[in-house]
Amino acid sequence: MTDVHPFMTTAEDGRTLIPGGSVYRPPSEHSSLLLQVSVGCSHNRCSYCAMYLGKSFAIRSHAEVEALVEHYAKLPPAPSGRVFLCDGDALILPQRRLVAILKLIGARLPWVTRVCCYGDTRSVLRKSVAELTVLRELGLGMIYHGVETGDEQSMAAIVKGATRAEVIETAARLRQAGIAHSVIVLLGIGGVAGSARHAQETASLLTAIDPPFVGALTVTPVPGTPLHAAWTAGEFVLPAKFALLAELRTILAEARFSHCRFSSNHASNYLPLRGVLPADQPAMVAALDHVIAAGDERLLKPERLRGL
Ligand code: SF4
Repeated sequence: MTDVHPFMTTAEDGRTLIPGGSVYRPPSEHSSLLLQVSVGCSHNRCSYCAMYLGKSFAIRSHAEVEALVEHYAKLPPAPSGRVFLCDGDALILPQRRLVAILKLIGARLPWVTRVCCYGDTRSVLRKSVAELTVLRELGLGMIYHGVETGDEQSMAAIVKGATRAEVIETAARLRQAGIAHSVIVLLGIGGVAGSARHAQETASLLTAIDPPFVGALTVTPVPGTPLHAAWTAGEFVLPAKFALLAELRTILAEARFSHCRFSSNHASNYLPLRGVLPADQPAMVAALDHVIAAGDERLLKPERLRGL
């Protein structure tokens, strides 16, 4: 069995190519079936995000989704047993559409054990706990949520469209509904000026929301984005490599979790780490201390091997 569904091909930069264009998915969904129920992102304003530049947000009709699912029903099951709903914030779909899609998946793809998608603070808070619970009962098992930072000032600067209080409410609703919450944070997004504050406030927000999964990525100014324009103009200064690791150290050392699978193994990071917190916290912090103290770039991922 291949580790990629036969309907997918993966580009060198990690994008997965499917009929109708390319889509992005979390690294952990690499062997999931990608079902594109919407195109682009309804927010599409985050200052660092180039994923859907020039792509207008649209929701696929139910007939289109049915046709895709019928096609997938003729193919072998995805190795992971999972479906990932694309694109950027599939949870923004109206409740009745999500219910219909999840019922369709359940009926036509009986091998599916879990459905996941990206969701953001706005899309979760449009749904009540009761509605989210219905989605979970129909198979929606995990939401990947780009929180990026716990620092209100940075949240506003990157036009995240959410506040700390809203992120905390989002986490509470997902927990009450029984949907796993996978949080993404973005090293470097506060720039040099906001680096320490970003790290400390992100640690305190993670403590407040106590998610079961956290992935740390590293910001990269991408041409065409407002962040890239600010970086080029010298208005945003990216922290140096070891300063980015210092942010990660602060987050790991200060955040308190009940039980969290924490990883920094995304392609954008200079140092891949993975562990279960709190058990692995001392070892992960010690590993960071060792690399930061050494200050040796040979211990870091070479620039040419990094990706978005
Ligand atoms: S919500 Fe996500 S996909 Fe949409 S613009 Fe922001 S980072 Fe990009």
